[in-house]
Amino acid sequence: PAQYKGRQIGVFGLARTGQAAVAALEAAGARVTAWDDDAARRTAVGGSVVDLMTVDLSRMEAIVLAPGVPLTHPAPHPLVVRAKAAGIPLISDLDLFEVARAGLANHVCVGITGTNGKSTTSALVDHMISFAGRPSALGGNIGTAVLALEPLPPGGTYVLELSSFQLDLTRALHVNIAVQLNISPDHLDRHGTMEAYVAAKRRLFDMQRPSALAIVGVDDAHGVALADDLGAAGRRVVRISALEALPGGVFAIGGWLYDAVTGEPTPILNLAEAPNLAGQHNAQNAAAAYMVGRTLGLDRNSLADGLKSFPGLAHRQQLVAVHEGVRFINDSKATNVAAAERALATFGHIHWIAGGLASEEDLAPLVAHTERMTRAYLIGEAAPRFAAALEGSVPTVHAGDLDSAVSAAAAAAVAGDVVLLSPACKAFDQFDNFEARGDAFCTAVVRLSSMGGQAR
Ligand code: ADP
Repeated sequence: PAQYKGRQIGVFGLARTGQAAVAALEAAGARVTAWDDDAARRTAVGGSVVDLMTVDLSRMEAIVLAPGVPLTHPAPHPLVVRAKAAGIPLISDLDLFEVARAGLANHVCVGITGTNGKSTTSALVDHMISFAGRPSALGGNIGTAVLALEPLPPGGTYVLELSSFQLDLTRALHVNIAVQLNISPDHLDRHGTMEAYVAAKRRLFDMQRPSALAIVGVDDAHGVALADDLGAAGRRVVRISALEALPGGVFAIGGWLYDAVTGEPTPILNLAEAPNLAGQHNAQNAAAAYMVGRTLGLDRNSLADGLKSFPGLAHRQQLVAVHEGVRFINDSKATNVAAAERALATFGHIHWIAGGLASEEDLAPLVAHTERMTRAYLIGEAAPRFAAALEGSVPTVHAGDLDSAVSAAAAAAVAGDVVLLSPACKAFDQFDNFEARGDAFCTAVVRLSSMGGQAR
């Protein structure tokens, strides 16, 4: 945006969002000082690359922080402390996007947050809009950084996946439709407490203009509280559920999606017709996405067709292969207990591969699913915690790494069984990210298949 011409702006953290911020600011004529503590990332950008810890911050207008930079927990990054002391605003790429989009012709912006299902729901909304023949752009925490999105023609919709880290930093982002799917404990190492995590998500709604619509999943107590608060404040709220019928809401029960927003519940779709939206968690995602599409004025048939034709996303309960009657499922994106529970509730005769970066999260909800498991194969730093939690409920194997776990599980599984990678942990102890972990799983499965009989 032109208002940054000649202004001094810092950009700290040069991964995907930081690089897009540098490019957008330079294009706008800003004087950018960029830095990343990781030398490899510093080579990837233009602008003047100087350690922000060594420069005089007083003339800086603002510093754009990458979402991964700790603000408070486990300790604020030294640059955060320094910028706060100097009174320099810390902002996010979403703040810059908000300024940029003010200059665009009429368009709609949808923001989607929640603990789990953000990517699936965001991709689904984008798919439904495109399927209806309208312009749409998907970005934010998924795929393309917001500042790298192509400008849309008038009438287009920006569909933004928003993480708690991004929202925590953002001062102003006025989306037209704000969605919160669900809230369960996650990222507490970064936010400190559950209250701080809930508050970060809530910022999406607190920043909205009164005309905006809030779509809130009410299958957890935090969602109920948010919907009640917004309603009491006179805001427009539509509740969604995958557990119960909601007058005035959108809900999925008995395998059907219903719309009761303006009256009696109307059946919209038998969810069995949407093969890549199986499971109760996806019913929640489908209900939210449907309501977004409805608000955008898409007609019911086209919405139903969009749900049916959704291709699904990799690493989320993705069927990788069926080998000698054994299904291999990649759910590497299940980086917390609530997400892994969804997968464990979906399958039976499970050879479960779990573990990764150790966290403090309570594992008891997982133990409730052991009756559908044949064995658990534990990997990574968290293996001892999982072994202790599962002891006496299901046999466990200390597999150590993912390749050994896949080999052991494949050797033990018989036709009709499922080998499921749904780790309930972040991947960083052994992999760069959940994508690399999921890819490694797929590679190991393909290797088994190519070894033919040896893998049974
Ligand atoms: P996010 O972007 O919020 O991490 P994803 O759509 O990538 O969400 O899904 C992450 C994990 O959570 C996957 O393992 C998926 O199966 C599970 N999941 C997806 N939607 C939901 C939901 N609505 N509730 C609980 N778990 C979900």
